[in-house]
Amino acid sequence: MDVIDRLRPALRSFEPYDPAFSPCRVNLSANENTHELPEEVRAAIDAALLDTPLNRYPDPMANALRDALAERHGVSREMVCVGNGGDEVLFNLLFAFGGPGRTVVTCPPDFAEYANFATMCECELCPVWRDPEDFSIDADELVEAARDAALVILTSPNNPTGDLLDRALVERLLDETDALVLVDEAYVEFAPEGASVIDLVAKRPRLMVLRTLSKAFGLAGLRVGYLVAHPSVVDALGAIRQIYSVDVVAQAVALAAIRERAAMAGVVADIVSERERLLAGLAEIPGVRAWPSAANFVLVRVPGAAEVRRRLRDEHSILVRDFSAAPGLGDCLRLSVGTREENDALLDALSVILREEA
Ligand code: PMP
Repeated sequence: MDVIDRLRPALRSFEPYDPAFSPCRVNLSANENTHELPEEVRAAIDAALLDTPLNRYPDPMANALRDALAERHGVSREMVCVGNGGDEVLFNLLFAFGGPGRTVVTCPPDFAEYANFATMCECELCPVWRDPEDFSIDADELVEAARDAALVILTSPNNPTGDLLDRALVERLLDETDALVLVDEAYVEFAPEGASVIDLVAKRPRLMVLRTLSKAFGLAGLRVGYLVAHPSVVDALGAIRQIYSVDVVAQAVALAAIRERAAMAGVVADIVSERERLLAGLAEIPGVRAWPSAANFVLVRVPGAAEVRRRLRDEHSILVRDFSAAPGLGDCLRLSVGTREENDALLDALSVILREEA
């Protein structure tokens, strides 16, 4: 049976997402938070789990969790929509506001799921490529492209390049175009104070901000992400989402983690200082070019990146992400920032390999 012929045409080029996980001593490949959760957060999560019956359906409105998230950001519950990770929210946004004949503007190299989901939802993709050297965005080109767009997707800090978005560019897009503008802030907790544009959402109805508990909160396995947006956007998404996609365990654990968020500040501060230490260490290794980063990962360019990545995995049991085949990212690897020990292991292994490859 030829299943491909029976598939919806827009879906025919996709393959199952299999990152071919090899068990490694040090996994710095997926921008996870590899630090232990602080004691009080762990205890609050354990208590929430014990208190969560599994025989009942989840609250499809996730009201308790949305209230806590709304309180975190100084908005109302009506402005918060939760999803099974940021991924589900992204897909639903493209499903809801994209579709045939609707243009989605992105600024690659960026998070690959934007283009994947947009293609699945049969949107027209309009990539505004970043500068190949410093990954900056040409503001005029972006505004021009956004004039006819249904949705513009920006990322701050951007994955995998690590740079922050200029707040003035967001305002300019909203002033000069009629597009919906999504700012994906999955990594913003690792950026300097004031980097977020979430405070603009209340007065800018076409601005939407995506957040996740997968990074700073160390809960990638839980699958909770959310959007802060105008109530009418939240309603529209609420009408099309899978009603139980954020399950009872996810809602309870996320609520506990949000309530205990003050305790995560130390972990985030440690990752930020480790990022700078990793960058300083990388600067000492001949042949490595590293870009500055406001996230919990660092993009580097090394000669023979694919081979370097293979040797890190096979000889040192360290997993990093190979971007060398991605357009605009020749010979690039993305290194997640781990614990001090993990980062030291990575720096040591990289200097050995690059000395030998030189
Ligand atoms: N946005 C960006 C930029 C990401 O890198 C990721 C995860 N890698 C996500 C969104 C989605 O994260 P999650 O589904 O785990 O919330």
